[in-house]
Amino acid sequence: MFESSVSYTVLPDLGPGAVHLAKATTPALKQRSLKNAIGCTGVGLHSGTKITMVLRPAAANTGILFRRTDIAGGGALVPAHWASVSDTRLNTCVANADGVSVRTIEHLMAALSGCGIDNLIIDINGPEVPVMDGSAAPFLFLVECAGVVEQSAPRRAIKVLKPVIVREDDKMAMLTPGDSFSVAMDIAFDATVIGRQHCHLTLTDGRFKSELSRARTFGFEQEVAAMRAAGLGKGGTLDNAVVISSDGEHVLNDEGLRYDDEFVRHKALDAVGDLYLAGAPLLGHYRGVRTGHALNNRLLREFFADQSAWAYTTISAATPAFADPRTRSAAALLPAYGMMAASA
Ligand SMILES: [Zn+2]
Repeated sequence: MFESSVSYTVLPDLGPGAVHLAKATTPALKQRSLKNAIGCTGVGLHSGTKITMVLRPAAANTGILFRRTDIAGGGALVPAHWASVSDTRLNTCVANADGVSVRTIEHLMAALSGCGIDNLIIDINGPEVPVMDGSAAPFLFLVECAGVVEQSAPRRAIKVLKPVIVREDDKMAMLTPGDSFSVAMDIAFDATVIGRQHCHLTLTDGRFKSELSRARTFGFEQEVAAMRAAGLGKGGTLDNAVVISSDGEHVLNDEGLRYDDEFVRHKALDAVGDLYLAGAPLLGHYRGVRTGHALNNRLLREFFADQSAWAYTTISAATPAFADPRTRSAAALLPAYGMMAASA
């Protein structure tokens, strides 16, 4: 089995040019990991295979790392990082230099962003994160059940210093400077059940959970066959995706929608997950128009390629988006999601 004390430093130290937002009297926030390991089993949305995943505490400065337990040796490690993104067709997939990959990571990454988890080893026995209910809520629930610990190292963020924009046809994604992390998203579909939708949220403490976490992935009835022919969507059902009727008039799910504008909220959730591949939380505003995983990744690549566009900064408790998030014990509810506690 694997060593219990894994420490992979994938993030460089704060450089001398780091911007310190906090006043000297305001303590810096600390990095965070899980208190206990916790796991879940579910089906991969695209692969259709049953997969078990265990989230394990990791040392400060580890970052978020996937570890394929079905593959022997050091080639099993796959960093959850923008530079590792290898495929963005209907999901975000990361791969290492050996071609070992983990796909559909975006909803899990969104939950880790929402909970402020900096360091984690994610053991996974297959090539895809389980889709669970198609949202980030089950992953948020796992983190809440496992509990969160503060670590000794200061938490840091990446401050957006100037606007960076990427475009493709009628799609656009943009980062602009700001002292908190906010997400604005616009979508437009011919389907009348979607139409035009907009959301704009500053993701201060707790708002990811209440405003975005439960929004499910969605697809169109008429696209299911084509998706499956392309080897995607094999695990998709009405239990893990909102499916829109071929006439665009209604959703096929008996329970209806979780939010009136669940579609745009899910796109915002996806963006939160994709942006957490920056390797640290962003201090700045994100705006997306009809964007998706491909453009979100291009945005990060162009952002980091421009050294004058960003700087590391420590985060203080006074920074609005980073007030210490509350966690609650929900272990008693574990069976509701078919989840299991796991030993560290
Ligand atoms: Zn999604």
